[in-house]
Amino acid sequence: MTKSILITHGILVTMDQQRRIFEDGAVMIQNDKIIAVGKSDDVSKNIKPDIIIDAKNKAIMPGLIDLHYHTAIARGVSDGLPLGTYLETFWYPKLRNLKPEEAYWAAMLTYAEAIKSGTTTANDMYRHMIECGKAAEVLGIRAVLSCDCADASEKLDTLKDNEEVVRVMHGKANGRIQARIGVEWVPISSYEFLTQVREVANRAKVGIHIHLNESLGELEMSKKKFGKRPVELAYDLSILGPDCVAAHCVWLTPLEIRLLKETGTPVSHDPGSNAKLGNGICPVPELLAAGVTVGLGHDDTECNNTLDMFEAMKMASVIHRAHRVDSTLLPPQQILEMATRNGAKGLQIEKEVGSLEVGKKADVIIVDLHKLRLSPLIYGKHLNILSHLVYAAHGDDVDTVIIDGKIIMENRVIKTFSEDEIDKATSACRDVLARIS
Ligand SMILES: [Zn+2]
Repeated sequence: MTKSILITHGILVTMDQQRRIFEDGAVMIQNDKIIAVGKSDDVSKNIKPDIIIDAKNKAIMPGLIDLHYHTAIARGVSDGLPLGTYLETFWYPKLRNLKPEEAYWAAMLTYAEAIKSGTTTANDMYRHMIECGKAAEVLGIRAVLSCDCADASEKLDTLKDNEEVVRVMHGKANGRIQARIGVEWVPISSYEFLTQVREVANRAKVGIHIHLNESLGELEMSKKKFGKRPVELAYDLSILGPDCVAAHCVWLTPLEIRLLKETGTPVSHDPGSNAKLGNGICPVPELLAAGVTVGLGHDDTECNNTLDMFEAMKMASVIHRAHRVDSTLLPPQQILEMATRNGAKGLQIEKEVGSLEVGKKADVIIVDLHKLRLSPLIYGKHLNILSHLVYAAHGDDVDTVIIDGKIIMENRVIKTFSEDEIDKATSACRDVLARIS
């Protein structure tokens, strides 16, 4: 049945080619697509939508794209460890012991939390991805699934497991679910394993999701094992490319920045995780100056206890300003581009999402601006909406979320499942912890 939704009378932040903002704007949705964008009076003329959403005192903007995401199960349990120790003593034992139904509930929890804070696309790397994909199908989030792959001896997922995820999940739910080949961590990989990654991705006709140059310890381990830094190694093995999301990239030489640019490799900047784990600060100004596409990610709720992309946006601006003593760096418009358009480009879905334009998929969020922390709201010459969205808004200011043309959350209530069921994620966490203790 044809379904049309008109969202009207909001401040419309399109993030289109011209970065147009309409102070009294509207978006018209037909089925899964945007069919009109512009001034409310123009868009509303001569139409009879099935549903009208009045967005007065609200912002209408593209859904946020979390470019580096792991479903997570045990938030707050292993804080304060350096990356290598954390992975060895906690993350890997937990992943090895995770049962499929536990992964499902962990995914339900994190995807629901993501939706509630305005994330409409999650580039998720975890285990039991068919289960995670089922959670994404039920909830209605757009998800790109890749496995935490390593050599079979690591007892995580293998490339074969990942190929099966591609076979079962890629293109499901009207194309809302996609799959990629994931690479967990260079230091735990063998050379043979890494040489197969590109071949498997090409055979499966999907992209790659990999961690690169996250910590100083990782660089040392990689140099010791392979004689090369991770980005150099990934370049030599043809892993890099426009279809390969490289997460973190905190420690980069000028040569490595050139390699990322030369191969068109997009980078996920994950400032909250990098700061919390004491890993450093990604050279985002240099990456952007070199012409590398940089999106934003939260990483996971164990490395970064919130997945609120509004917080990630603020951190991605202020952390570089503090570090470089330069208040001109990463202004709100550029940050919003990272969280929307750049994330879409990083996942090669920029023709579908990342901005509100006619013909694109309707992934739209509505942010309630009628809040103390978002006042005063000023129009005209001193329009401050972008500043509010990046520096003052929280994920829980998101009022309504539409993904693929479906209203997934309205008035902060998720329509696709009952939040009471989230207790099952807590039980799953306790069970996993009991097994690895
Ligand atoms: Zn990660």
